[in-house]
Amino acid sequence: MYRTHNCGELRMENVGEEVVLSGWVQKSRDLGYMMYTDLRDRYGITQLIFNEQVTEKELFESARTLGREYVVRVKGKVIERQSKNPNIPTGNIEIEVTDLDILNASKVPPFTIEDDTDGGDDLRMKYRYLDLRRKPVQENLFFRSQLAVETRSYLSKEGFIEVETPVLIKSTPEGARDFVVPSRMNKGQFYALPQSPQTFKQILMVGGFDKYFQIVKCFRDEDLRADRQPEFTQIDCEMSFVTQEDILNTFEGLTRYLFKTCLDVELPQFPRMTYDDAMRLYGSDKPDVRFGMQFVELGKEDLPEGFPVFDSAELVVGINAEGQAGEYSNKDIKKLTSWMQRPQIGAKGLVYVKFNEDGSIKSSIGKFYSDEVLAQWGEKFGAKKGDMLLILSGEEEKTRKQLNELRLEMGSRMGLRKPDDYKPLWVVDFPLLEWDEDTERFHAMHHPFTSPKKEDVERMLNGDHETMKALRADAYDMVINGVEIGGGSIRIHDRDLQSKNFDLLGFTKEEAEAQFGFLLGAFEYGAPPHGGLAFGFDRLCAVMMGQNSIRDFIAFPKNNQGRDMMIDAPSPIHDEQFDELCIQLNLPEEEA
Ligand code: ASP
Repeated sequence: MYRTHNCGELRMENVGEEVVLSGWVQKSRDLGYMMYTDLRDRYGITQLIFNEQVTEKELFESARTLGREYVVRVKGKVIERQSKNPNIPTGNIEIEVTDLDILNASKVPPFTIEDDTDGGDDLRMKYRYLDLRRKPVQENLFFRSQLAVETRSYLSKEGFIEVETPVLIKSTPEGARDFVVPSRMNKGQFYALPQSPQTFKQILMVGGFDKYFQIVKCFRDEDLRADRQPEFTQIDCEMSFVTQEDILNTFEGLTRYLFKTCLDVELPQFPRMTYDDAMRLYGSDKPDVRFGMQFVELGKEDLPEGFPVFDSAELVVGINAEGQAGEYSNKDIKKLTSWMQRPQIGAKGLVYVKFNEDGSIKSSIGKFYSDEVLAQWGEKFGAKKGDMLLILSGEEEKTRKQLNELRLEMGSRMGLRKPDDYKPLWVVDFPLLEWDEDTERFHAMHHPFTSPKKEDVERMLNGDHETMKALRADAYDMVINGVEIGGGSIRIHDRDLQSKNFDLLGFTKEEAEAQFGFLLGAFEYGAPPHGGLAFGFDRLCAVMMGQNSIRDFIAFPKNNQGRDMMIDAPSPIHDEQFDELCIQLNLPEEEA
């Protein structure tokens, strides 16, 4: 028998019992006549004691050979511990070992298997099996598993069925590049891995499954910015005969349930914010509403001419950092300005106005504006004594984005972004299309299957170019603490409208037919009105656990270059495989 108990289980009640435990050696302390060893498994740590006076010499010598991460089985008696450890649940007892089996030896691990490890990211990924033994990693994966179970439980009760959709498919555009897989049997042809099961779930609606979900892998070949993974998991959902309102309520319900059952957190009703308001007040379509600090614009009436930068700016907009006037010396402001001027943000400068406790006003542009004017700004921002305005100016869209970064940074510095203070909301009424100046093309803001709002359908079918920019969609995102947790839309279910959308997105009739003919065809056979959404499952895990990185919730993540460091993928393939696939490599010279 390998074990009668696990390593997290034994308590004072068990004192006197004979037990068998198996696990890994966390560490040993050799006092010469006595040895203490921590034995670990996924349930906890139990202290073993080898006592020279009690055990046979051979056993004691064998215990001395135990290194970190050896796998052992021990038999012994549960005894009360002399010096108790209040930090672990088994801290009142220890096992006086009478039998020791070394089940497997271990090399010295390249990093310590403890809560705080000394291993760097790549090293931990290369030896992922060792990293997986660490408690924080295990806890994340247990949480992920629980979240999946509860998701299935809730949606099943609500009448959703889980359907698997294929992985070898044809492009489903979600705005990224496809990963492609060559077909040996159809030479010169390729499958694409799904960026999402979007078209299949819509087809399922045409097939009459009015409530679908799937916890599913999606693949997107994007340049890997921090915390993107080329493969990630969605809770993907679709419903028929529903309005946007029905969908928002259903998935607000799911989210509330998950927070309650997995975290014992009662979420408030989710407020709704339009996309326009989100951009105007926060400069972001995923505002972090754990704190206020909303944008305030200064208009012509607030800006008597004199300061050329503001006079010529398309937008002058700022935030009020409450209580910060006394916190920022000139040097601090300079540093903050440089931070804003880094290429990642690209602000030209940063203007401050301090409303000091003594009633005086100090500003970097004090020589251009009188105190009366600055006081008028203060009123507009709702500033009190001790507050500091931070103001940016320039081209509208850019300036809002930059101020969003500054607002988030100030929120962090001021301690207003507590990870366990959950503030969800729905952002609604997204634009249908986005105009790309560089390519002179429209892109779908959500994806090409998203429906315009009913009142905009007519304008979409008959309007001119400018009209298209103003079309609104029945598209929505769920945002929690500044993170986009999920998003979706009501779909187009009418063939002509879908064709029109492809047309606007720059597909020729032939291209649309070749790529999406199956969907357009399905729309001719009684497609019901439908809509849905998908949650980023990895991200939901991370946000619920108050962590930033989705990588820590994926058992086998890839690094920033999209590599799996453990199995060393991607990797070259054999020449025969190329031959079979009729593919010739044509690498740029420096990579060949
Ligand atoms: N397929 C969409 C996505 O991956 C979600 C949806 O519209 O339901 O973002």
